Amino acid sequence: MGKHLLKLSDLHTDEIIAILDRAQMFCQGIDIPNFSDKIACNLFFEPSTRTQYSFNVAEEKLGMRVISFNPAASSLNKSESFYDTVKTFDSFGVDAIVIRHKVNEYYNELLGHIDAAILNGGDGTGNHPTQSLLDLLTIRQEFGSFAGLKCVIAGDIVHSRVAHTNYEVMRRLGMEVVTAGPAEFLEDSLESEDFDHAVKTADIVMMLRIQRERHAASMSMSGEEFHRAYGLTVEREKTMKDRAIIMHPAPVNRDVELADCLMECDRARIFKQMQNGVFVRMAVLERAVKR
Ligand code: ASP
Repeated sequence: MGKHLLKLSDLHTDEIIAILDRAQMFCQGIDIPNFSDKIACNLFFEPSTRTQYSFNVAEEKLGMRVISFNPAASSLNKSESFYDTVKTFDSFGVDAIVIRHKVNEYYNELLGHIDAAILNGGDGTGNHPTQSLLDLLTIRQEFGSFAGLKCVIAGDIVHSRVAHTNYEVMRRLGMEVVTAGPAEFLEDSLESEDFDHAVKTADIVMMLRIQRERHAASMSMSGEEFHRAYGLTVEREKTMKDRAIIMHPAPVNRDVELADCLMECDRARIFKQMQNGVFVRMAVLERAVKR
């Protein structure tokens, strides 16, 4: 059985650093393994652009053979269950299965029944381990280390698996992490701060998309109102520290959480994050299938 990657809190910080080190080597084109005898299978039951296709690119770069699954054209439409769908691909003898699903901890019902390594491409509002790994790689490339850095994660915290994963792992790595946003999007168990103050004092301003697909009722504020009150506006960006950077897991709703013109400004690392996504996914695939 390969090594699963379900949530980052399962991994010791040494192992997280080892994955980042490996990803950094891949970023520099060093020691790229060839897994042409391995088959990876990408099962995305929720929409995805970056995670799905950067896993795909990572698999290709490692020489793996790749099966991509289209839920709309599958037997899910014949009322087949999630479990039976995953078990089907496992019975084909694939080596790694990347899964995204809207149910938190969907993987619990698979554990013990699946031989392939499961790589979590995002579970509901729970975890998004490869997103956090690529965020960490981007931060380390920028600042060299983690301890003492301050990150504000802002926006729809309660519905964000990115916020949940990053809050836990960044704190474990010695960073100061605060959340900010409208009260309805914050969580009592996570430290929060006034957004304007946080923007002025943070090294990393991480903006999040409003996860409308996970809202029970529609948000009362319009996109424009949200932008003024809680978005990273052009005015707020000017108050950021000299070397501070802007991050966002994307997709970005321009002019809602982030001003359109900031998407590719000097401080923005959003496309850099996407680039790093390929390298961390290569590293976790290697960890999953290497004997
Ligand atoms: N792409 C990220 C995720 O899958 C963030 C988002 O969708 O807003 O969680």
